[in-house]
Amino acid sequence: MRLPCPLCGERDSGEFVYRGDATVVRPDPGAPGARGAFHEFVHLRDNPAGWHKEHWYHEGGCRSWIVVERNTLTHEVRGAVTAAAHTLARSAGGAKAEQEPEA
Ligand SMILES: [Zn+2]
Repeated sequence: MRLPCPLCGERDSGEFVYRGDATVVRPDPGAPGARGAFHEFVHLRDNPAGWHKEHWYHEGGCRSWIVVERNTLTHEVRGAVTAAAHTLARSAGGAKAEQEPEA
């Protein structure tokens, strides 16, 4: 599998380390119900079949965190952005930006 690092270009996936689901957001520790929200954040994860946004770390390259949109069934990759750009887009779009892409 090859992954498109936004800073380095397309590289072999062996240069990257998978770092988890990029669609979940760390809960506010001061919010009501934070204990339950943290339990869900840490322990209850989906196992999607299809398009998904994932954090990858380019350990063998620029050492950047990126968000890759990948189909978990076919390993097809639609694109990648830096984690910083992903966070900015999510902040600008709120929860709507985090909806899963169309299958
Ligand atoms: Zn890179």
